[in-house]
Amino acid sequence: MNIVLMGLPGAGKGTQADKIVEKYAIPHISTGDMFRAAIQEGTELGVKAKSFMDQGALVPDEVTIGIVRERLSKPDCEKGFLLDGFPRTVPQAEELDNILLQMERKIEHVLNIQVEKEELIARLTGRRICKVCGTSYHLQFKPPTVDGVCDKDGGELYQRADDNPETVTNRLEVNMNQTAPLLSFYDTKGVLSNIDGQQHINDVFNELDVILKDDKQ
Ligand code: ADP
Ligand code: ADP
Repeated sequence: MNIVLMGLPGAGKGTQADKIVEKYAIPHISTGDMFRAAIQEGTELGVKAKSFMDQGALVPDEVTIGIVRERLSKPDCEKGFLLDGFPRTVPQAEELDNILLQMERKIEHVLNIQVEKEELIARLTGRRICKVCGTSYHLQFKPPTVDGVCDKDGGELYQRADDNPETVTNRLEVNMNQTAPLLSFYDTKGVLSNIDGQQHINDVFNELDVILKDDKQ
């Protein structure tokens, strides 16, 4: 099952990705997570990505496409994959098609999680993430059992550097401009599904799951 998860920052992609990956046993490939890991490890890729990420700008396509190409060639992607945060531009989507064509594969589902801008701002500024496993929490909407501590592994929760009100507004704007042509790109191919992201986390998952299950039969 080759899936792309779409939605503006804060729509709940990471939250839903955890559930999809658990149920369908495919790898979760998040370009944002890969860039953050590279920054933490201090690699050349991390240095390149950091200046763009700090401003809420997109990392250049050639850098981003390169890391995705490499990741998709790994054996764990043979049964499918869940892309989260990639593609974000039409050139990225076209290049993804080329990469998959060479592998005699294609994107089967593009799941677009829709949420209003005000709600996105509230979600992003209240988001907290586990340092160890990357699970997302929210101060009000999805609080951990113990303040500042991950329910899964006891890891410390932190706030992403780009989840501050100024950067959040810029990220939303950058993403809104890029997203519209990308949605038309996939709509034309007949693989796009829109999902109401302003429901309880479990109800959003049920909507996604119905689409994915239909495909299995
Ligand atoms: P994305 O990966 O799309 O940027 P996340 O999955 O990290 O988004 O979710 C953003 C924030 O919103 C997190 O704090 C998360 O706990 C919270 N969140 C996710 N889904 C919902 C939902 N359906 N209702 C309320 N809050 C949510
Ligand atoms: P969000 O919660 O904003 O959806 P992500 O974790 O997906 O955050 O991405 C964080 C940052 O990483 C983005 O603001 C951007 O700088 C960079 N990034 C992630 N994916 C891409 C991509 N496909 N193309 C360009 N830049 C990306």
